[in-house]
Amino acid sequence: MTGEPILEVRDLCVDYGLGDRAVRAITDASLTLRRGEVLGLAGESGSGKSTLAYALTRLLRAPGVITGGEVRFHGRDGSLDLLAADAAELRRVRWNQISVVFQSAMHALNPVARIDAQLTDALRAHRAGPTAAQRTERAAELLRLVGISADRLHSYPHELSGGMRQRVMIAMALALDPEIVVMDEPTTALDVVTQREILTELLRLKDALGFAIVFITHDLSLLVELADTIAIMYAGRLLERAPARALFEGPRHPYTAGLLDSFPALHGERVRMEGIPGSPPALTALPTGCSFHPRCAFALERCAVDFPPTTVPAGDSAGRLAACWLHGGGRELPAPLARSLGRNL
Ligand code: SF4
Repeated sequence: MTGEPILEVRDLCVDYGLGDRAVRAITDASLTLRRGEVLGLAGESGSGKSTLAYALTRLLRAPGVITGGEVRFHGRDGSLDLLAADAAELRRVRWNQISVVFQSAMHALNPVARIDAQLTDALRAHRAGPTAAQRTERAAELLRLVGISADRLHSYPHELSGGMRQRVMIAMALALDPEIVVMDEPTTALDVVTQREILTELLRLKDALGFAIVFITHDLSLLVELADTIAIMYAGRLLERAPARALFEGPRHPYTAGLLDSFPALHGERVRMEGIPGSPPALTALPTGCSFHPRCAFALERCAVDFPPTTVPAGDSAGRLAACWLHGGGRELPAPLARSLGRNL
């Protein structure tokens, strides 16, 4: 169940560096996250997923600079222009309303502090009022929430498994009942069984507590069951956005189709995985036109010259967008792409 927009990103641009030496890392990114929704951000390493997430939460560090666009947060206390917010406003929103689980978060725990100290510190830093006893009780409640016995409050991080440490980080992110949780590759370092357990738990918590999630991963297959909507990034641009199931059953962008061809189908006969030839471009040397064109089997002449506008592909509803010249002017799709785009998992 998803609801009203809670985060609206319009034409967000991010550079690394300033002046002549600036490199454009995000170009005109537009997204909407709705209450209770899981929005998956996928793409190869270096596509700009993490930069986008840190920019929209105002956590981007120098030399990253937001150079344009708008990010509006519609929280329980009203709307806020996050890009114009001052330090006090950001402090009020961060962790209270928008929290983040960083990449390799399970290594972010302080190795010489017990779990109870780390959880209660987070509570004390962001919310005055509760007594020490109330904070400890809340810490125990948070551990139970993520499926860890409250006995573990007195453990040190090295006494917990990798999966438990990651659950502690998720508990910390949920400590102040946020409305949005941004998760940057939160389960990448875990084995697939633990990963699945944590993701199942995460969806249960989301449904119980009602927060929305921005989930960043390079593993598109992970998002099949997890996400409501998926946005695909490449070289700092959003290339396709669609409801998760529709995107998996029929991608409209050759890059999305290539990503889907890079992992085995869940059902049906076993087919040889094609993958995508070549590597993503360096941001300092982006190809002209559509930055995917040197790797695209369906490139047209104009693809090397102009970047395509983001449009609703013919026959699709407004919930679906793709930036590809193949979807312009009522053109018939090349047969191999049409087959790929129409495949079923
Ligand atoms: Fe391929 Fe052209 Fe579409 Fe880019 S715009 S994905 S190069 S067909």
